[in-house]
Amino acid sequence: MENKFQFYNTLTRKVETIIPHEEGKIAMYTCGPTVYHYAHIGNLRSYIMEDVLEKALRYVGYDVKRVMNITDVGHLSSDADTGEDKMLKGAKREHKTVMEIAQFYTDAFFDDCKKLNIKTPDVVEPATNCIPEFIHMVEVLLEKGFAYVAGGNVYFDTSRLPDYYVFSSQSEKELLVGVRDDVEEDANKKNKNDFVLWFTKSKFEDQALKWESPWGVGYPGWHIECSCISMKHLGEYMDIHCGGVDNIFPHHTNEIAQSESYLGHKWCNYWFHVNHLNDKSGKMSKSKGDFLTVSLLQEKGYDPMVYRMFCLQSHYRKPLEFSYEVLDNMSAAYGKLVKKIAELGEDGAVNEQCFASYRERFSDALCNDMNTSMAITIVYDLLKEDTNDATKLALIKDFDRVLSLNLTTAQSKESQSVDAELEAYILAKIEERKEAKKAKDFAKADAIREELLAKGIAIKDTREGVVWSVQ
Ligand SMILES: [Zn+2]
Repeated sequence: MENKFQFYNTLTRKVETIIPHEEGKIAMYTCGPTVYHYAHIGNLRSYIMEDVLEKALRYVGYDVKRVMNITDVGHLSSDADTGEDKMLKGAKREHKTVMEIAQFYTDAFFDDCKKLNIKTPDVVEPATNCIPEFIHMVEVLLEKGFAYVAGGNVYFDTSRLPDYYVFSSQSEKELLVGVRDDVEEDANKKNKNDFVLWFTKSKFEDQALKWESPWGVGYPGWHIECSCISMKHLGEYMDIHCGGVDNIFPHHTNEIAQSESYLGHKWCNYWFHVNHLNDKSGKMSKSKGDFLTVSLLQEKGYDPMVYRMFCLQSHYRKPLEFSYEVLDNMSAAYGKLVKKIAELGEDGAVNEQCFASYRERFSDALCNDMNTSMAITIVYDLLKEDTNDATKLALIKDFDRVLSLNLTTAQSKESQSVDAELEAYILAKIEERKEAKKAKDFAKADAIREELLAKGIAIKDTREGVVWSVQ
């Protein structure tokens, strides 16, 4: 196949053409969610852009295998032995067991992904499934002399590496300032950046999940799960590792340190990082309290597709600033766009020449460091193009394999003419009906359909999900 897909590789700090280990195939890994709370829309920006990357690679002809972990074992704010066990904190807050919390928020995460048309990776593996693999890797690292036991914990020895700061031209000192924010001195460490591979001694009393190990009963460090889970499903060579920019240090740096020390060779050639979503006061985070979720946007009357389009209109490497004002503008633009597309007829034959030339333009935009805003501009250009509707519609359906904006299936807002409050009510009812069907309570599902019908709203189950219309 023709090889021209380029994107910015954080490892080399260059836009590069990808050359996978196996021709035509891409082994791709995504750091998954920590499931102790809902994902906020800032986290979901990364997943949206990684979804576009996967679909774009498929669009240009690659066979992609994508793996993602679920962090369901005590994950700290840093890899130091401080702070609270977030899973346990979540469980206490909601009077549930840790595993119930993990399951609940894993489901919630995938519900959000579904609303945003984010494809589920080919393999999704919870960290708690892989304890023997973690222990094995720690054993090998100890045997090879890359790790040491101190104070009951096993640490990775960063002084054994010729180049620990693989990603950065920053000085060691600058990086340490960043780390020091949330790290208390750990007297067991030989070097400042050494990190825990396996804990048996923890400062917080009751870490909920623990396992037997050669070093005593304990639990894995933060970074080891991504190295093990990716190798379990993708082997010793990976092509693309994705994550948010805040994963670069220390998480991805430590993943490389332990993986390459374990394997004895280079592990992953391309690193893809998505920048932050900010609000006016700075980076969005869970710890700020009132954080934005997809459900909250829906309650406020926004179609999740509007948020997806908002993300796609910006380049993944740039910070993106969220405001309701910008989202309102996006909502209007999205409404107009789907209305225009809904007005296209399907008559006539597809003009093959026009189809091929637009497909090439679209593919070039994706191959050019994933220029998603250009890809959307091409949709607008196409609508103005002097060609028949059948060609336009065929192309838009083809583009939407990557954009995933429901361009040909969305309800056109203007034709619906319902207010935001009624729409939110309808969406809540559709969601309630979905839950009822999932619980096999078909009587309730039918009752909800009747209730909506009584208000003049008809719903229809389609392959793309539930669609509704005003009668
Ligand atoms: Zn990871």
